[in-house]
Amino acid sequence: ATADIGVTGLAVMGRNLARNLARHGHVVALHNRSVQRTRSLVAEHGDEGTFVASESLAEFVGSLKSPRAVIVMVKAGEPTDAVIEELTPLLDEGDIVIDCGNAHFADTRRREATLREHGIHFVGCGVSGGEEGALLGPSIMPGGSAQSYQKLGPIFESIAAQVDGTPCCVHVGPDGAGHFVKMVHNGIEYADMQLIAEAYDLLRAGLGAEPPELAEIFRTWNSGDLESFLIEITADVLAHVDDTTGKPFVDIVLDQAEQKGTGRWTVQTALDLGVPITGIAEATFARSLSGHAEQRSAARAALSQESGIQVDDREQFIEDVRRALYASKVVAYAQGFDLITAGSAEYGWDVDRGAMATIWRGGCIIRARFLDRIREAYDADPDLPSLLVAPYFADAVRAGVQSWRRVVATAALGGIPTPAFSSSLAYYDALRRLPLPAALIQGLRDNFGAHTYRRTDRDGSFHVQWAGDKAEHPA
Ligand code: NDP
Repeated sequence: ATADIGVTGLAVMGRNLARNLARHGHVVALHNRSVQRTRSLVAEHGDEGTFVASESLAEFVGSLKSPRAVIVMVKAGEPTDAVIEELTPLLDEGDIVIDCGNAHFADTRRREATLREHGIHFVGCGVSGGEEGALLGPSIMPGGSAQSYQKLGPIFESIAAQVDGTPCCVHVGPDGAGHFVKMVHNGIEYADMQLIAEAYDLLRAGLGAEPPELAEIFRTWNSGDLESFLIEITADVLAHVDDTTGKPFVDIVLDQAEQKGTGRWTVQTALDLGVPITGIAEATFARSLSGHAEQRSAARAALSQESGIQVDDREQFIEDVRRALYASKVVAYAQGFDLITAGSAEYGWDVDRGAMATIWRGGCIIRARFLDRIREAYDADPDLPSLLVAPYFADAVRAGVQSWRRVVATAALGGIPTPAFSSSLAYYDALRRLPLPAALIQGLRDNFGAHTYRRTDRDGSFHVQWAGDKAEHPA
């Protein structure tokens, strides 16, 4: 047995991860259900490092040094269970199975508990950065036991993206913590993209500008606070011209956004844990709405379509939209980190939130300059109740709040939908407001359902005899 680590599942992701490992000097065992993929990897890239290819799973396991570390990179869901089931009897106590696919954290918790009974470490590991990231350096979010990280840490840190000499990989926490954090990362990615799309829509409507000009605006924004991979590629996509028609590419793409489900998982989890992640939820629903083609068509026919905004000062409007985008983005991240906080508390993971910001700085889709500020905020106060109250972000949002209000008001008056901009502003206002009208909701609940209420001036629960003498009684 000579291999340091093995990869089973050699489609695009597994293949690139295996090559990345080999390029960093690790001896990599290879296996895939259909042998053709294994053979082609060795034939095309065998010279990039040391590979030990096997055609059967037993031979593959036998080629690994003990304790064995096996990366499973197959289709998420049932295939992952099938592979784990086949692997388990071939492994020994102390071996490590790493699922780098996009698993739901609840599945990871289940698998971890099952393998733990066999003395096998199961590591649910989030990997972000797509195909290219897997090859050139992804952001890696491993969960599982601390003991498993002693072996995996040095290997994963060597292949992860590096930013300022720091690898974008850290042990996130036990069992499902890694896949949970990866899920929230994807949810934040949904919000980020929706906010960018709303900014684009407003600028286009407000300025009457064409995509090449809008591309320049985003390119300029990419040299400031908003600097990020997504803003950078927004400029590229807007500047792109369709080959066949010569039209701006964005004008020939059907306006129906698709999704693979991680945004939905994030929102479902947030509902379960009672965390208001309004930005991510609006972004997820906005994709759903865009896909309801028949309903949209009926609405266009039945409802009048006046929309459009009047902009007097173009430079001011562009700056307002930029500030509104930044403030809304702060809210979306604040909400995402609240969800990590809640998940960590619910499942006892003790996730270091500042470290999550650190490992998202490179490799992944939401990589951004702004993540340094998040890390600094949690370094200064590890118990920060909300990112929004960290001095840097509080100042940044305060500085932009008038712009934000103008943009949301202008959009509403002009009939341009900005669900993420608007709901983020509403969240910011609600968080600061005293009293909230929740007091009236409690009154209504007590009236129709005797659900009781608490008072502002003394402890305890109370109920009013609404149908009788309307006297208050302790509940
Ligand atoms: P796919 O999700 O397309 O899965 C194909 C691989 O799974 C093949 O190796 C296939 O083997 C194997 N497989 C499928 N069913 C079984 C089974 N029942 N038993 C054994 N092997 C099986 O591959 P990708 O490389 O696109 O993705 C791998 C994982 O990574 C997925 O979980 C995916 O969600 C995730 N992913 C992550 C991305 C990221 O950015 N982090 C991007 C893309 C994917 P065979 O060749 O024999 O058919």
